[in-house]
Order: sequence, then C-alpha cells, then structure tokens
Amino acid sequence: MPRREPLSSFLACRRCKALFSVPQKSEEPIRCPYCGSTDVSDDWEGLVIIADVNSLIAQRLNIKRPGYYAIKVR
Ligand SMILES: [Zn+2]
Repeated sequence: MPRREPLSSFLACRRCKALFSVPQKSEEPIRCPYCGSTDVSDDWEGLVIIADVNSLIAQRLNIKRPGYYAIKVR
C-alpha cells in the first residue's frame, strides 16, 4: 500500500512548478491554475513558499508570483 503524505493531494505543474490542490474528481483535464498547462505531475519533491518574488530563492527558481512551488518535478 503506498504511503500517503498530507501533501500527496497536491499536483505540481511541470511548466511553472506551481503546486496546487486538485478539486474533486472531474471530467475536465487537470490544468495548472497559474499558467494553464495540462502538463502536471504528482511526482514532485520539495516545497517552497514564495512570499516575495524579489527574494533570492524566487529569482533562482525563476518564480514571478507568490505561491507554493515544488523544487523538483519529475
Ligand atoms: Zn503552471
């Protein structure tokens, strides 16, 4: 049985690395709410919370807006 973690219901966008929770099962393809990409993954690692887009970490990860981001998306 796979181990379920509290954040396992979050998906990460492969394009912009944003993390977002998935609403109830729907017929629609899952889209990143930030960039609209459907290229999303549930296999990601590391969580950063970006509050200030001028911070070093935001610049290093090339993040343009505050939010939750995965460090690595597979
Ligand atoms: Zn995205």
